[in-house]
Amino acid sequence: MNSGLNKMIWAAWEAAAKHAGRAYIAGPELDDAMSACRRLLGQGFGGTICFWNLESDPPRRIVEAYISALAVLASQKMDCYLSIKLPALKYDVVLLNAVLEQAQHTHTLVHFDSLEHATADQTFSMIAMAARSYPHLGCTLPGRWLRSLTDVDLAVDLGLHVRVVKGEWPDPQHAEIDPRAGYLNVIDRLAGRARFVAVATHDPELGRTALQRLRQAGTPCSLELLYGLPVKPALKVATECGVPVRVYVPFGHGWLPYSLTHARRNPRVFWWILRDLISAGSPPLSKKSSRGILPSAKETPSSTSISRA
Ligand SMILES: Cc1cc2nc3c(=O)[nH]c(=O)nc-3n(C[C@H](O)[C@H](O)[C@H](O)COP(=O)(O)OP(=O)(O)OC[C@H]3O[C@@H](n4cnc5c(N)ncnc54)[C@H](O)[C@@H]3O)c2cc1C
Repeated sequence: MNSGLNKMIWAAWEAAAKHAGRAYIAGPELDDAMSACRRLLGQGFGGTICFWNLESDPPRRIVEAYISALAVLASQKMDCYLSIKLPALKYDVVLLNAVLEQAQHTHTLVHFDSLEHATADQTFSMIAMAARSYPHLGCTLPGRWLRSLTDVDLAVDLGLHVRVVKGEWPDPQHAEIDPRAGYLNVIDRLAGRARFVAVATHDPELGRTALQRLRQAGTPCSLELLYGLPVKPALKVATECGVPVRVYVPFGHGWLPYSLTHARRNPRVFWWILRDLISAGSPPLSKKSSRGILPSAKETPSSTSISRA
């Protein structure tokens, strides 16, 4: 196809996908995330919240959102930790220290999400530096990156809480790595060694195998799920394996929990985006109650009307 037309189609598709992404956040405000977490708690689930920023948000504004989130978590004494995106802070040590100082008041876990492969070196060296002064830290290891096997060793040495994901971004040098096989290699390397492993996947077979291997090795573990994605099969696995469940609740700006590169490889993603686009324009409660983790008629007005306005 003509490359100009191709670009236009992808730009339009990306805009549509971003719109659909609003289905995966609790709402624009911290209050929206806290309401979602309270409901989750009522359903027996823990939480982790993260402010999803825009590219254009200044790092100071993002840090303020992280610090406010920590302050509210501290005041409400919830089973909930903070996830952050270090590249969004432009790797600014002063800003990261401000977040950790706030976390220190209540020893709240601060977890580093994983972004593009190129961001990993700087992220891990800052985690290693931060771990010298604050021990309650977590990192994310994508199964589709070869480097994750080495990062496991660092995570174990630093005593980090680890979340294993398939990964939204490929390994540029090792695109051949199968996300599932890579995922289980990372799990095997963590089993019997890590302080704690969160198995973050909605793929029930993968979740079951990962949790069984960790349990057999005596490694404390849980299942982590994304707000707004279908959960029934995954929850069944958590019950079978006898592990707790935690839900990642984003607030702020909608992103997609699948990248468009997945859409190119996996036609099912086109359908998901289309479906989310349709549901993004319809009342969210009916949509969520049919497939997401938060079926609740008590959704606060702010999280229903503003987030999908
Ligand atoms: C708690 C958590 C934290 C994460 N943090 C990160 C991170 O920091 N960095 C990162 O790169 N990635 C992160 N991810 C995303 C992860 O890398 C995967 O891209 C994502 O979880 C999809 O892979 P999957 O293992 O769930 O399996 P998939 O095979 O993609 O999904 C399993 C099943 O879930 C359903 N499903 C999945 N996605 C959708 C959808 N969008 N709409 C409808 N149904 C769907 C389908 O039924 C599918 O068959 C995180 C995921 C979770 C659950």
